[in-house]
Amino acid sequence: MPSIPPGARQRCNLCQVEIQGMVGGKDLVHFSQGAPGTRAKLWARVCQYLRSPEQCSQCLNQDPTLRGEVTSNDYYAEAPILDVAASLGLPAEPDPLG
Ligand SMILES: [Zn+2]
Repeated sequence: MPSIPPGARQRCNLCQVEIQGMVGGKDLVHFSQGAPGTRAKLWARVCQYLRSPEQCSQCLNQDPTLRGEVTSNDYYAEAPILDVAASLGLPAEPDPLG
């Protein structure tokens, strides 16, 4: 799957987002709600749940070399909940994905 040229935007109709090509390959994902994020965040939230070959062939974010490494923070909403809890000396929340 080709990468998006810097400055151009392509819409992923499956994921309901627009991906904006950036110089250096760190593409910006415009979610329908909330702040823009990375391809890794998009994948953690949406693209990993695509299962059928038909779905994956339409998704713009199935290439692991483009999305990079997905970190645990990518799975959460905007605020890093676990980091806040730790800074307050509270026990961490159980992992909702676990
Ligand atoms: Zn997609």
